[in-house]
Amino acid sequence: MPTIRSLSSSVSAKHREGVLILLSAFTACPGLFYTTPAQDGILSRIRIPGGNMESEQCSLIANIADNYGGGYVDVTNRANLQIREIKTGINIEVLQHLQQLGLGSANPNVDHIRNIMTSPTAGIDSQELIDTRPLVKAWDNYITAHPHLGGLSAKFSVGFDGGGKVSVLNQLNDITFAAVLVDGNIYFRLYLTIGGKGEPARNTGILLKPEECLPVLAALADVYLQNIDSQRQRKPRLREVINNLGIENYLRLAFTSKSLTSQPLVCHSFSQLPAQTDMITVPADSIGIHPQKQVGLFYIGVVLPLGRVESSQMRGLGDLAEKYGSGNIRLTPWQNLLITDIPQPQVVEVEREISNLGLSYSQTNIKSALVACSGKRGCAASVTETKDHALKLAKYLENRITLDYPVNIHFSGCAKSCAQHNQADITLLGVSIESENETLEGYQVYVSDSTLQKFGHQLYEYVNFSELPALIEQMLKTYKIQRLNPKETFRDFTQRDATQLKQTIHHS
Ligand code: SF4
Repeated sequence: MPTIRSLSSSVSAKHREGVLILLSAFTACPGLFYTTPAQDGILSRIRIPGGNMESEQCSLIANIADNYGGGYVDVTNRANLQIREIKTGINIEVLQHLQQLGLGSANPNVDHIRNIMTSPTAGIDSQELIDTRPLVKAWDNYITAHPHLGGLSAKFSVGFDGGGKVSVLNQLNDITFAAVLVDGNIYFRLYLTIGGKGEPARNTGILLKPEECLPVLAALADVYLQNIDSQRQRKPRLREVINNLGIENYLRLAFTSKSLTSQPLVCHSFSQLPAQTDMITVPADSIGIHPQKQVGLFYIGVVLPLGRVESSQMRGLGDLAEKYGSGNIRLTPWQNLLITDIPQPQVVEVEREISNLGLSYSQTNIKSALVACSGKRGCAASVTETKDHALKLAKYLENRITLDYPVNIHFSGCAKSCAQHNQADITLLGVSIESENETLEGYQVYVSDSTLQKFGHQLYEYVNFSELPALIEQMLKTYKIQRLNPKETFRDFTQRDATQLKQTIHHS
């Protein structure tokens, strides 16, 4: 159990006690104040609303990782940061410093709520309809100022999509606001998750003006709170509450809330609209060098292998952002990051410095779209060493195949599939078998298919890890040879005919 070793005398007794209790209260979902035990130590998560951070914050987090954790930081698929392997409590002054720098909620009661998601290119995307950063900030401020929202499920998740080329529309969020143009005016379409676990969000047919989003979001959260048992430790997902109430009823309760002064534009009845089916994986524009909408400025998407960045690299990236850009860094839900606002003449210099840090900005780097859940070291449910296996696979493939653009390969250590199979081109699901008194670790192998079966189309029921890298190499090489044209993606290829792929590959 962590302890707070050094409590500042300047901290009030009440605050000290509060933080002490919060630090001691392990929960299933980590937070800055709500830590989680893992096999390799304590795990602490720092919420970064919208994944938007500054260079000064980078160096403070790197120092914490060095002084208290394992000397590295992980970017999560909600664009949070996680510090792992914490063996002793983090000094309360350090936590306060984080809060002063805008990291972690100023109100510990709501710090457990899932990070607010938005496109990492918000405000710099040449194709976006609207910059969503003010909405992220406004909702974060609203949560902080309304302690009753501490009753929300830790998994209550919200996303804002500005309609740009680096979209988060198909990321998993309970509530998504997605910008659309209707008759020359910008609205946000409201999406909600309903139905079974992992089902894509449904378009409610409701259009909101930008200024209506926040009041509607507050009303949707309040209806959730009014319909759960607040005494229960396990809070239901919003999807479960909507399933119980019925979608029309849930929306009616929210939109008749006294706090709403205007009514939204309803374009269609809910039942007429299909679910989202278009699954978006790592967007090509989130890796590599790209022009911003601000003329003469560029952003660079940097590949972080499995979201991990060493503390020295974190400091280095912060310094780069400060020296060449505006000091701004964006974490992505694809576990990479962007350095923004680099003037064109300096781009080559930044490329060189990123390489000097031992990092890549290449879209064809196999690690750019490699995802792995915590694996055995971080999760008791895992039957395989997902992270080690993913890195070994990347190393094996590195000099054997060149990709034209990212192919999403996701490793999950069990069927819970935290690595999000719905966004993978190739899903690898950990399984183990007993053989001659020995436990062998391997994977079920799936590829994305158009029928949207749970994990995709199963190609192999069990592949031992020792054979997996060569198999994946064959799959990728077969795709490159047999695709209709260089523009056909791996996903399009397998959705066209997954069995063809298996027939060509020689694997028993
Ligand atoms: S997929 Fe399974 S093993 Fe991996 S983190 Fe999730 S629960 Fe743990």
